[in-house]
Amino acid sequence: MLYGKPSDEENKYLSPIFGSSAEGRDIPKFKLNDTPIEPREAYELVSDELLDEGNSRLNLATFCQTYMEPEAEKLMAQSFEKNAIDKSEYPRTADIENRCVNIIANLWHAPSEEKFMGTSTIGSSEACMLGGMAMKFNWRKNAQKHGLDTNAKKPNLVISSGYQVCWEKFCVYWDVELRTVPMDANHLSLDLDKVMDYVDDYTIGIVGILGITYSGRYDDIAGLNKLVEVHNQNTDFPVYIHVDAASGGFYTPFMEADLKWDFRLKNVISINASGHKYGLVYPGVGWVLWRDKQFLPEELVFKVSYLGGELPTMAINFSHSASQLIGQYYNFIRYGYQGYKAIHTRTHEVAAYLTQELRETGLFSIVNDGAQLPVICYSQIPDKTHEWTLYDLSDRLLMKGWQVPSYPLPADLSQTVVQRIVVRADFGMNMAVDFVQDLKSAIDELNNAHIVFHESEKPKRYGFTH
Ligand SMILES: *Cc1c(COP(=O)(O)O)cnc(C)c1O
Repeated sequence: MLYGKPSDEENKYLSPIFGSSAEGRDIPKFKLNDTPIEPREAYELVSDELLDEGNSRLNLATFCQTYMEPEAEKLMAQSFEKNAIDKSEYPRTADIENRCVNIIANLWHAPSEEKFMGTSTIGSSEACMLGGMAMKFNWRKNAQKHGLDTNAKKPNLVISSGYQVCWEKFCVYWDVELRTVPMDANHLSLDLDKVMDYVDDYTIGIVGILGITYSGRYDDIAGLNKLVEVHNQNTDFPVYIHVDAASGGFYTPFMEADLKWDFRLKNVISINASGHKYGLVYPGVGWVLWRDKQFLPEELVFKVSYLGGELPTMAINFSHSASQLIGQYYNFIRYGYQGYKAIHTRTHEVAAYLTQELRETGLFSIVNDGAQLPVICYSQIPDKTHEWTLYDLSDRLLMKGWQVPSYPLPADLSQTVVQRIVVRADFGMNMAVDFVQDLKSAIDELNNAHIVFHESEKPKRYGFTH
């Protein structure tokens, strides 16, 4: 009967969502509920659960993309179910990955007389594992050739103390000693006066960082290349450079095209970057490239049959969605060189504006002004009249929805507490002006709070020096 009284079953579907049984009981959180619930109820429950999550667009802590164009989202949603590793089932996707590797090789000036290799990854962490492993395998091969006792000592990797945690993971997972070159107040990136002191016959390579996570500063890769060039002339155990360009790899080529940090430098043999940072794709894509196949040991390349031929694969992960690759390719063709440049130029201008405003408060000492990577990092000018710290300011900003982290700088500089703003493509000038207003009122509120802390709490909260 078409227009009869609804059955019980139909009633269930017609009932208002907040009159439904799912909303009327506590769904178990740590074991499966026994029976299914309706999709619309499940949707409401999960989306309500996420209501008070931080708003990603107001998250000024992350380098990861928080906006993509609707057309990109549509394409990505259309390819969620495709497994990028099934290269024979999805040859177009495999081809798109290959085109991306070529586009990036071109962007990073891979020399035409050498044969570059590269792959997509889940992010820079996986890319760094691969870059590190390639260096370790190559070092071992060369060490054995020259009769070095490879069991006498752990091989080591040299990097500044501003390294991202993925390098610590690499060293733990693959049993390599992490040799960190300390940073100090005068060296807020790799210290070129000291770095070669850390290199010996057991060094698998040196990592230069194009965009230190903590501060946004660049290592001087060209300077490092010169030092390595000299070193390699007098040894059977040459070292090479891997550039961790997680954030700079898709920024510097557009903003400082003349800065030499990439394959234009002879001793830079591999580079990684995160597609989901300034490559402008949602989280889940990274890249690693070697300037020539001689630097990627064959043992790390596995063959997968591909439409009758053989396609090499060298990633650590196997199954993952093709969406991120499709999103990366969309951005490449959609924006082109000039489009990326326009977006990054605007991002850069916002960073300059924020730095200016922060300076004008007279309260902060700028550690990184965003002139290179659009990351602004600042400490508080010590002043006894201040009743508040950067941690308090972070709390205040969070009350207005902004997530701006405060943390100590890495080893050897850990007495300096900084606050960091990562300016991303989707942080426009209008949002920046709003942010500055909120920042100023947060400061006013803190200045006028007259909060009296118990004396014993003070060393914890105020106990840092500039
Ligand atoms: C973000 C970052 C990483 C890790 O990258 P993921 O893509 O998040 O895995 C590694 N190194 C540096 C310098 C970074 O900034």
